Amino acid sequence: MASRANHHVLLGCALLCAAAFFYSRFALGGAGEGQPAATSNLPVASDARLAGDGKQTRFILDLDQPISFHAFPLADPYRVVVDFPQVSFRLPPGIGTAGRGLIRAFRYGLVMPGGSRIVFDLTGPARIANASVLEAANGQPPRLVLELEETDRASFVQSLATESRPELRPAIGAAKEPATPVVAKVESAPGPAAPGDLRPVIVIDPGHGGPDNGTQSGSEIMEKNLVLDFALALRDRIEKSGKYRIVMTRNDDTFVPLDERVRIARNQSAALFVSIHADALPRREGDAQGATIYTLSDRASDAEAERLAEAENKADAIGGVNLTEEPTEVADILIDLAQRETRTFSNRFARILMGEMKTTTRMHKHPLKSAGFRVLKAPDVPSVLVELGYVSNKEDLGHLVSESWRSRTVGSVAHAVDAFFAKRMATAGPAEPKK
Ligand code: ZN
Repeated sequence: MASRANHHVLLGCALLCAAAFFYSRFALGGAGEGQPAATSNLPVASDARLAGDGKQTRFILDLDQPISFHAFPLADPYRVVVDFPQVSFRLPPGIGTAGRGLIRAFRYGLVMPGGSRIVFDLTGPARIANASVLEAANGQPPRLVLELEETDRASFVQSLATESRPELRPAIGAAKEPATPVVAKVESAPGPAAPGDLRPVIVIDPGHGGPDNGTQSGSEIMEKNLVLDFALALRDRIEKSGKYRIVMTRNDDTFVPLDERVRIARNQSAALFVSIHADALPRREGDAQGATIYTLSDRASDAEAERLAEAENKADAIGGVNLTEEPTEVADILIDLAQRETRTFSNRFARILMGEMKTTTRMHKHPLKSAGFRVLKAPDVPSVLVELGYVSNKEDLGHLVSESWRSRTVGSVAHAVDAFFAKRMATAGPAEPKK
């Protein structure tokens, strides 16, 4: 999940004071980026710092070579995003958690092949007064400098109109490296099945990624990495049988917007969508433990489910995507339109999964819940979201980082998949492509 801290901040304008504590405490590690193999030729970002006050704040990023970039504001919550060609981030651990002046915090990471991003969370509306890259001079390395000035909401909102449109973001397309404009995401999207491959498609969806760390324990253990490890192990296990075609929404530390995840499942005519997450509770909200399986509902089954769905649905705000500019094809689909059959299958899989998982892992005291998770909204794809456990709970965390726990639990999920499809085939005959 996106931690409570983000959740607070992302509630919008009322944000600020109460969230500050949580924010620095739980949420925003400057995201370490999993180091991809071929980083040797990438520009290197070696340090970053903030200066100034609540009227004017300056961000400086030390580089080893000048880069092109594009900076733009996003509202609700107030953010500034800087996109540039892929950079190897070698910043001090924990950087970005403590803000200064107009910048509450910042995160960074990969948002697409060839494209990196820094997302700044602001304390209020601010104007980009200056954004430039300086050549090395006077013993200083090349630097990216971003200067923000306090402004009012009306001016801020007006600046969005032109600045936030994706087609006006030239930085990544202008890369010296192989050009990877916004469509790169599509190029890297999973391909269609080979002709004649009628195996059911299972989409495995590791939550978060890139600048969106998800929840975390300390500055080291991040949800985005735990769930990716689990999802990759699950893919390998399920693929072994040869009975299914597996499609991953991400297989590295890249940010993928929620709607894109849903779109992948729909485009692949998936027979099952499994989203993998891990939860956390702040210490003062007590202790919770065990795995929980969620399905889609327009009414949350309880307050915790509602809180969690709201937090998970903020992933796009955390990763820096401006929802208002995203295609609304899926976002606009009302939950009511989800086909009844899809829901029946989702609930059936959730029950089978619970039965299998409880043999290998500790379950939450109420292990089956439902709420309005955006990532579960494909109307024609049975979908569940699994919270593997709580990184805030010592014993759960011990499981989450344990290879033997992972292997056993992956095995139980794979069993559930087999049981689900065995029943489906028996009642419906062989799967057929939906298109
Ligand atoms: Zn999550």
